Amino acid sequence: MTWRDNLPDVRGKLLLNEPLAPFTWFRVGGNAEALFIPADAHDLADFLKALDPSVPVTVLGVGSNVIVRDGGVEGVVIRLAGRPWAQITTDGDTITAGAGALDSMVAKASAKAGLAGLEFYAGIPGTIGGALTMNAGCYGSETKDVLVSAWGLNRKGERIDYGLADFGYTYRHSQAPADILWVEATYRGTPDAPEAVAARIGEITSRRETTQPIREKTGGSTFKNPPGHSSWKLVDEAGWRGKLHAETGGGAMFSDLHSNFMINPGEATAADIEGLGEAVRADVLAKTGIQLEWEIKRIGRAT
Ligand SMILES: Cc1cc2nc3c(=O)[nH]c(=O)nc-3n(C[C@H](O)[C@H](O)[C@H](O)COP(=O)(O)OP(=O)(O)OC[C@H]3O[C@@H](n4cnc5c(N)ncnc54)[C@H](O)[C@@H]3O)c2cc1C
Repeated sequence: MTWRDNLPDVRGKLLLNEPLAPFTWFRVGGNAEALFIPADAHDLADFLKALDPSVPVTVLGVGSNVIVRDGGVEGVVIRLAGRPWAQITTDGDTITAGAGALDSMVAKASAKAGLAGLEFYAGIPGTIGGALTMNAGCYGSETKDVLVSAWGLNRKGERIDYGLADFGYTYRHSQAPADILWVEATYRGTPDAPEAVAARIGEITSRRETTQPIREKTGGSTFKNPPGHSSWKLVDEAGWRGKLHAETGGGAMFSDLHSNFMINPGEATAADIEGLGEAVRADVLAKTGIQLEWEIKRIGRAT
C-alpha cells in the first residue's frame, strides 16, 4: 500500500502515472506520480487538507518556464486548467484573474476595460500563477508594477492572503513560500482609451514574433540577466548562439533568433536540454568569470 492507493476523493481529475511532457513548452520530461486537475478552489482545498502531508506537491502552469526532468515528478502535480481557473473580471480600475488564466487573456481584458499598464502581459505566454511566482515581465514592466494582491492555498489547504509587499519581489523572483498555490490575483490599471491599450498590445505581439522563437519548443529566457550584463550577449559571445551541442544527443541548442532561449528541435530529452544549459554556464564562467543563474525552473528527478 502506498499513498497513491489512498488518495482523497475529488470532483476534478486525478490521474496516476501521467506524462507531463505535453504540458510543457519543451515537450520533454517524465511522468507525474499523480496529476490532479481540481474542479475549483474548494476541490483543491479539500484535496490538500486530506492529502498525506508527507506527499510532495508541485504546481505547473502552462510549463513555459520549466524543464520537467526525464525521471518524472515525485508526489502530486497540480494543474489549474479549465474555465473556473481562468476567469477574469474587472471592477473600476481593478482586474481580478484566476491563476490559470493566460497572461495574454488578462492583457486583452485590460484593453476591453480601458485599463493601461498590463499590456506587457500580451508578450508572456504563461499563466497568472506562473507570473506571480516568477514576477514575470517584459519591455520595462513587471508583475510587481501592477499587482495589488493575490490569494492562494498552503499545503494544508488553508487560504493565504498576500498584498504586493508580502511577495518581496525582485527580478524574476518572489520571496513567498514555495508551498503556496496561487488561486487568484488582483491588479490595478490606469484608465485609458481601449483602442490605445489594444494598439500597444498589438505592437508587443508583433515585436515578439520577430525577436523570439515563439513557435519552437522552448522555455523562454534560460538565464536571469546578471547585474550589469545581458545573458543573451554572454551566451552569444561565448559562441553558443545557434550551435548544436555535440555532447547532447538530441540536438538541443541556443536559438539563432534569441541566444538566451534554448530550443528542443525535436528529439532532445530533458537531460540534453539541462546539460546544454549547464555546459554554457560553465563555459561563460570560465571565459568571463560571470556565473549565470537559471531563470528556468527545473523540476523532478533525472533518470
Ligand atoms: C516564448 C517564450 C517567451 C517568454 N517571454 C517571457 C518574458 O518576456 N518575460 C517573462 O517574465 N517570462 C517569459 N517567458 C517565461 C514564462 O512565460 C514566464 O515565466 C511565465 O510566468 C511562466 O508561467 P507558466 O504558467 O508557464 O508557469 P510554469 O512554467 O508552468 O511554472 C513556472 C513556475 O511557476 C510556478 N507556478 C505556476 N503556477 C503556479 C500557481 N498557481 N501557484 C504557485 N506556483 C505556480 C511553478 O511551480 C514553477 O515554479 C517566456 C517563455 C516562452 C516560452
